[in-house]
Amino acid sequence: MASVTTSTDTIPLVDLHAQYEAIRDEVLPAIAEVLDGMHLFLGPRQHAFESAFAALCETKECITVSNGTDAIELTLRAMGIGAGDEVITQANTFIATAEAISAVGATPVFADVERATASIDPASIEVHITPRTKAVIPVHLYGRPANMTAILEIARKHGLRVIEDACQAHGARWEGRRAGSLGDAACFSFYFSKNLGAYGEGGAVTTNDSALAERVRLYRDHGSRVRYEHEVVGRNCRMDEIQAAVLEIKLRYLEQWNEQRRHNAARLSSLLADTSVETPAPGGDQVYEVYHLYVVRHPERDRLKTFLEERGIATGIHYPIPIHLQAAYADLGYKAGDYPFSEELARTSLSLPMYAELTDEQIERIADAICAFDAAGA
Ligand SMILES: *Cc1c(COP(=O)(O)O)cnc(C)c1O
Repeated sequence: MASVTTSTDTIPLVDLHAQYEAIRDEVLPAIAEVLDGMHLFLGPRQHAFESAFAALCETKECITVSNGTDAIELTLRAMGIGAGDEVITQANTFIATAEAISAVGATPVFADVERATASIDPASIEVHITPRTKAVIPVHLYGRPANMTAILEIARKHGLRVIEDACQAHGARWEGRRAGSLGDAACFSFYFSKNLGAYGEGGAVTTNDSALAERVRLYRDHGSRVRYEHEVVGRNCRMDEIQAAVLEIKLRYLEQWNEQRRHNAARLSSLLADTSVETPAPGGDQVYEVYHLYVVRHPERDRLKTFLEERGIATGIHYPIPIHLQAAYADLGYKAGDYPFSEELARTSLSLPMYAELTDEQIERIADAICAFDAAGA
């Protein structure tokens, strides 16, 4: 076996240091300015960021919140969805999508995904609609928008609300239109490793529905518009000014970083074309993907993962257990085999390093390691 590389040679899944080096001189004075002003919540930086992010998403409204999970929860609350209601989402998402549905007292109902895209399968949504279904939450997984045209058509036919889980898709587009502007509302996370990440927690809801935006604002801050007057039972889901200041700076680079991710993904896919891994299916003209994650598939995923990690290449699995098979949702009564494509993805997907600052040399090292895996006799 080849020698194990030292940790200094490791290619991480995400390199936050490289990005920080590039923006340090802008970020530190901005944080100092917030502290000098001591306006720590719902202040000028938040308003400025909300406007800038709404402009990026091409929506009328943006409401910053504490994180992406709360963005989904507050949107559901603002839509009046709760106990006795069902909300459909895909089985192969991060747990947060389902948790937010549960948090409002509604029941998550899962749909399978299309094998090629890993996006929610519109046909599977349709078979899971019942008289209790109120909304569908497609996830723009890995930074690739779901088939919003088909989803919106089904939703219109059945009178359902559509909430985009855009937590992995800042800046992505579906048929030319921005993720965040496609459904009734969209939810974003600014978790540190997302394409647009804070240096703490953050999230946002975007929408063109101003009445809905007002209700999200109400729920975000203890159900209150006037201090100590509470119209509804709300929550404390504010994002702080330091995060808003950081995000406002990072937002200026988002498009450039997304372009670099796309370039890196294209380069990886071309170098891996003749290897044993299945590279992400190209989206074509319909989508502008932003590669939050670069996910390949392999029947012997675990062996490949170990092989790469022994060569200093970090990898991830997004996600190893589909939500319907999680212990947390055992009481919903799903079983293995219910969602074949979500389950296949859980067995075969492997996320390779992906970030804007990935160098050509690192990309070649990743591809060389996969060629070596094939040569070692898979
Ligand atoms: C990150 C993420 C969330 C949750 O965001 P947080 O800010 O971590 O709460 C929800 N859905 C998906 C698909 C995500 O990737």
